[in-house]
Amino acid sequence: MKFKSYVYPLSLSAASAFLANKNELNFLNAGGTDLLGLLKEDIIKADNILNLKYLKDLKYINQEPSGELNIGALTSISEIINNVFIKKNYNVLHQAASQIASPQLRNIGTVGGNLCQRPRCNYFRGDFNCLRKGGDTCFAFDGFNKYHCIMNGGPCFIVNPSDLAPALISLGAFVSVFSNGREKEIPLQDFYILPSANYLKETILEKGDIVTKIRIPAQPRDLKSNYIKIKERETWDFALVSLAASLVLDGKKITKGSLVFGGVAPAPYFSVKGNKDLIGLDLKNNKAIESFAEAFVKDANPLSMNGYKAIMMKNIIIKLFSEII
Ligand SMILES: Cc1cc2nc3c(=O)[nH]c(=O)nc-3n(C[C@H](O)[C@H](O)[C@H](O)COP(=O)(O)OP(=O)(O)OC[C@H]3O[C@@H](n4cnc5c(N)ncnc54)[C@H](O)[C@@H]3O)c2cc1C
Ligand code: SF4
Repeated sequence: MKFKSYVYPLSLSAASAFLANKNELNFLNAGGTDLLGLLKEDIIKADNILNLKYLKDLKYINQEPSGELNIGALTSISEIINNVFIKKNYNVLHQAASQIASPQLRNIGTVGGNLCQRPRCNYFRGDFNCLRKGGDTCFAFDGFNKYHCIMNGGPCFIVNPSDLAPALISLGAFVSVFSNGREKEIPLQDFYILPSANYLKETILEKGDIVTKIRIPAQPRDLKSNYIKIKERETWDFALVSLAASLVLDGKKITKGSLVFGGVAPAPYFSVKGNKDLIGLDLKNNKAIESFAEAFVKDANPLSMNGYKAIMMKNIIIKLFSEII
């Protein structure tokens, strides 16, 4: 791992200006649990590394009187898990954070880093100059594609690896990005881009942009939320398929809410039609649930080795509904 310098800027503006330098490849290191691995394995090359650890005002969890919740980008995943307010009111976020990696990685890994982490595709992480690394072939398409996407794929077939992203999107979260000297806020759902739009990057971030904050709007008092993650191994692992749900029920009928999948698409998967059909669904009606789940996955377009994910998507919806009532 070679780079010229490791810098600690004292302001966001200085950090952003340093990262924006067009003549150098400069990277932001938050917890480093993903970035340092990418550098060590020579998957990316850096001229300089920048660490934000002296910017203390990016590390907080603030519950506002209005009921909204603000989380600084440098907040660790463990801090999310240990926050009593989040545990009581945002089960989906608590559950998602609790199932990330190992306790040690959760102590170091940050919320911003989790949302911006790079894909886990074994070709991308290996010695293959695939499309996403500037080459001209997606090796997964005709290769080992067991862990790849079944929704919204092509020409690259990665899945978004973040557990926090589906949970936060199901809560209608917004992300703030510091860019060109000012902060802008966008729905987290719009933060991710598909390979069909640009297969060289996963988010809208440009050189010099820094994620500063996540804002979760006030939620209904009777919110019921949950996160279910299916992994290949019992110990720490990335999701094969995961489902975040934030719902409001009237009796057993869904009156409001959203379902967001992880592990199935290059960005957290939110089906506009599926989420429209969710409203009015009667969770006592098994037949209606079965057809809802069936319809939700009908756009799946599996590769040669990952058709199992469509079955998992359907079953995870049914499981989540049975657990949430
Ligand atoms: C063994 C292992 C298992 C894992 N398992 C899981 C898992 O099950 N689920 C899961 O969700 N994740 C998992 N992860 C990923 C882990 O959660 C992330 O590595 C961690 O959250 C990233 O946080 P970090 O602060 O260390 O990020 P870094 O490694 O510091 O950064 C990651 C990327 O994000 C960029 N970045 C970081 N912060 C910002 C910011 N504020 N603004 C703009 N860009 C930024 C960096 O430049 C870098 O490209 C695993 C990682 C490892 C190594
Ligand atoms: S899925 Fe994407 S990252 Fe993986 S080999 Fe294909 S182009 Fe590369």
